[in-house]
Amino acid sequence: MTFEDELRKGNFQVAECTDCKKIVWPPSDFCNQCFQEIRWRKCANEGKIIEFSKQNNNYFCLAEFENTIKIIGKVAS
Ligand SMILES: [Zn+2]
Repeated sequence: MTFEDELRKGNFQVAECTDCKKIVWPPSDFCNQCFQEIRWRKCANEGKIIEFSKQNNNYFCLAEFENTIKIIGKVAS
């Protein structure tokens, strides 16, 4: 299972360290802090939008999930 495969199915997964519980972002097989294995879990669905911008006729937003993951997305209008 990979992050991209799950994302395509609509499951936004985060990689969480089994040891220190840190969210590993960008996703990796091992924690980037203590090098323990990670496990996948579903992300908290609610992200908060921290920035919103307009470029030409497109809106983009920068959303943050679980205080760690920042994703830039194009907002469908
Ligand atoms: Zn860790």
